[in-house]
Amino acid sequence: MPRYCAVRVCRNRGGTASRQDNKRISFYPFPLQDKSRLQKWVSNMKREQWTPSRHQYLCSEHFTADCFDIRWGIRYLKNTAIPTIFPSSEDVCILQHLVNIKLRIQF
Ligand SMILES: [Zn+2]
Repeated sequence: MPRYCAVRVCRNRGGTASRQDNKRISFYPFPLQDKSRLQKWVSNMKREQWTPSRHQYLCSEHFTADCFDIRWGIRYLKNTAIPTIFPSSEDVCILQHLVNIKLRIQF
């Protein structure tokens, strides 16, 4: 099953070649066992009324470099990592607006 990033305005998808060739994108599941950390992830995403499922992921683009540990050439997400890099809500509005225009044209 392809992995999708749960951030609505993020276009990163698993299984397809990345646009940025020198940047490897990984996907990380939500810390569903760790409620307080999960809460921080969700509130940083500005989606407070939402609970992710265990089939949803965030891509590595939303974490700063210090969220990762590199061991044996493999990048691991630290078990304290909190995603902090998200497109601004203004971007979301513009995108949503464009989607609405597109929908109106199609139907
Ligand atoms: Zn993403």
